[in-house]
Amino acid sequence: MKRKLEVAIAGGGIGGLTAALALRARGLDAFVFEQAPAFREIGAGISLGANAVLLLKRVGLENRLKSNGSANTGLTLLTWQGVPVATSPRPANPLPPGEVNSYTVHRAEFVTLLMEALPKEALHFGHRCVKAEERSDRVRLTFANGSVAEADVFVGADGIHSVSQREIGLRTRPTSEGCMAYRGLIPAERLPWAKDLNSLKMWVGSGRSFICYPVSRGRLVNIVAFVPTDLDCAESWSAPGDIEKLAAEYAGWDTPVLQMIGALDETLRWGIYDRAPLPYWSTARMTLLGDAAHPMVPHFGQGAGQAIEDGFALAALLEDADIEQVPARLKAYQQLRRDRTSRVQAVSREAGRFYRSEHRSSAEREKHLATWTSAGRWIFDYDVEKAATELLSELGAPAPSGTQRVSRR
Ligand SMILES: Cc1cc2nc3c(=O)[nH]c(=O)nc-3n(C[C@H](O)[C@H](O)[C@H](O)COP(=O)(O)OP(=O)(O)OC[C@H]3O[C@@H](n4cnc5c(N)ncnc54)[C@H](O)[C@@H]3O)c2cc1C
Repeated sequence: MKRKLEVAIAGGGIGGLTAALALRARGLDAFVFEQAPAFREIGAGISLGANAVLLLKRVGLENRLKSNGSANTGLTLLTWQGVPVATSPRPANPLPPGEVNSYTVHRAEFVTLLMEALPKEALHFGHRCVKAEERSDRVRLTFANGSVAEADVFVGADGIHSVSQREIGLRTRPTSEGCMAYRGLIPAERLPWAKDLNSLKMWVGSGRSFICYPVSRGRLVNIVAFVPTDLDCAESWSAPGDIEKLAAEYAGWDTPVLQMIGALDETLRWGIYDRAPLPYWSTARMTLLGDAAHPMVPHFGQGAGQAIEDGFALAALLEDADIEQVPARLKAYQQLRRDRTSRVQAVSREAGRFYRSEHRSSAEREKHLATWTSAGRWIFDYDVEKAATELLSELGAPAPSGTQRVSRR
């Protein structure tokens, strides 16, 4: 009988944890090595689009998403003074009543539900990976705590400051978008209108944008406020922010924006970065995933969504593979994922330009709006497991057994 492939994942963020879940759901032995000594996630919200929710439902997380998340019905875009500009495109086929295909969630709650779905023995905290070496047909990992581990496949899911990138021979630097984000959570009872908030709302103007949406089943309102900055990336990665400075950036904006800033107890600021698409992601037995492979600016809310797609693609492509087939499957993974994530990276930058384009000509704004609208369709209406199965068949490989599960959509 064929031996199960062992997959070691460095990084227990959203990307690493969902990859482990997807790999285990297809019968592979996946283990996560996370540098933090124990679970920690920041208090902030995240939106999960239809392309990600579809996959999470397939590994049995639908009820957990329902009980933790807030159903999301789309995005409404307003000017800084509150005049409606656009709404996100509606799906061509409306959902059956009661069905939800997109959620907004509290990051810590979401990461907790991913961890709880994995067996305890799959998670190793306090393991900062410092080295990954390919040796004959295995990969050997070395951790800062002195321990070592071996696996058939290594996946670097260690975020935008990835060490794994270096281990596969790449050296790149994040590029600043010239803006930073203030983030914060507000108890919904402090905002008179928050009980009716069931979608993302974004105000745009003068080089700034301000988005809010409910998380924790509507108990909290998450805000993200993008403002221009020339701060250097190393110092501005994630640090406490100053509410007074934030308020000064949005002086005179629409009343709900001012109410939200006024209701904050604290805020964090994040630098906004991406990287140019990498020339390659995979070597024979090592590959990258999530922000380690394709960090993107967050204006389409797709960083985590694309990381989730990566993990499910990898699982579909590695299922049923022999140890000898691993190099070809990792190449196929790179082929499937690099083009799509590069397009999503580009369109996320474009979306940022659109949000900040209030001062530009109306023709230019219309052009940005058209790109934004069509990107909404090809990004959200995508099934990565189906795409992986099609690629395997193009490459002459048998379809993975898990396609039974895929076709039950
Ligand atoms: C302001 C803002 C808003 C955003 N909003 C959204 C949104 O609404 N929707 C969305 O989809 N995305 C959003 N994103 C993007 C999203 O947060 C990221 O794309 C996503 O978290 C990437 O997940 P990851 O697992 O690849 O990386 P990370 O979440 O960075 O996880 C990496 C993990 O690896 C660990 N690690 C690092 N180095 C090592 C090592 N050497 N060894 C072991 N472990 C290591 C880290 O401790 C961490 O736990 C947003 C980002 C920002 C900045």
